Amino acid sequence: MHATDATCELMEEIATRCRLNPRFARRIGDHGFLELEESWGDEATIINTARISTTNQRVAGVEQCGERERNLLYHLLSKNHGTPFETVHFRWRVIAPIFVLRQWMRHRICSYNEFSQRYREPITAWYRPDEEAITVDGYPVLPPEALERYAALMDGLHRFYQEEYAAACQRIREAEEAGRIPPIAGGRNPYRARARELLRNAMPVATYSDLYWTINFRSLMNFFNLRRKPDAQYEIRQYADAAYEMFRLRLPLLADTMDRVLQDQATD
Ligand SMILES: Cc1cc2nc3c(=O)[nH]c(=O)nc-3n(C[C@H](O)[C@H](O)[C@H](O)COP(=O)(O)OP(=O)(O)OC[C@H]3O[C@@H](n4cnc5c(N)ncnc54)[C@H](O)[C@@H]3O)c2cc1C
Repeated sequence: MHATDATCELMEEIATRCRLNPRFARRIGDHGFLELEESWGDEATIINTARISTTNQRVAGVEQCGERERNLLYHLLSKNHGTPFETVHFRWRVIAPIFVLRQWMRHRICSYNEFSQRYREPITAWYRPDEEAITVDGYPVLPPEALERYAALMDGLHRFYQEEYAAACQRIREAEEAGRIPPIAGGRNPYRARARELLRNAMPVATYSDLYWTINFRSLMNFFNLRRKPDAQYEIRQYADAAYEMFRLRLPLLADTMDRVLQDQATD
């Protein structure tokens, strides 16, 4: 099966982003990727926002956050004074299998912009479970033969798409030449678009997709809390752990405060 333009571009894009932003970009498995592309605000933003209710004493940056500010951060978070934590935002690039993104999208307090299988052919890369994914306490739940059948099935579905799409494009060209449908000069071809809309129904949830995820810290904390737990599915946990690691690198004081609050609440 040949890789589509979308797949080749994506693999190049991952390599480029890892080169340009090595501290905040991570490969996840064979084809997955997560990058903290941008963030807005920091611990000082939260402190200054909260202080609107009591004082005009502002801090210019996190380096000015002393004992009082650290205590305030802890107090706000532990007492669930949530809105100051909504003033810090993160924009992530996520390349993940659709089944992971389906769980991810249950998180509603954030925004998403996703790769379109309506405007483009699908990414041909699909999720292959690694050794850890197929074992529970050292016991492999799927034997190698099952994984081979799975791989053949994934390849077969993508091959079906590519063959049928190529055939549909050929028929559309012939119909244009025969004058049965009007020629489309440039822009979006509605006939090919409709073929893509129908054929994408055959794409398995193991197919990779690509999206931007923009989220404030309050909601990100909820995501970490739910998706880094041992009962969260292994695959989304890998992304959540990588996101946490990059978040901690960007805002260590906030990460420490969050961890302390969660630990203290767990032992209460
Ligand atoms: C291990 C695990 C298993 C799961 N299994 C299932 C499952 O079997 N089936 C299933 O459907 N889902 C399942 N989920 C998804 C889960 O129910 C949540 O939808 C998902 O984790 C998003 O969490 P959230 O609603 O807190 O996040 P967000 O949607 O980001 O919401 C954040 C917070 O905003 C508030 N909020 C958002 N929307 C509303 C609203 N409409 N009304 C009132 N308050 C709102 C709530 O306080 C919420 O906690 C599972 C999640 C996990 C972690």
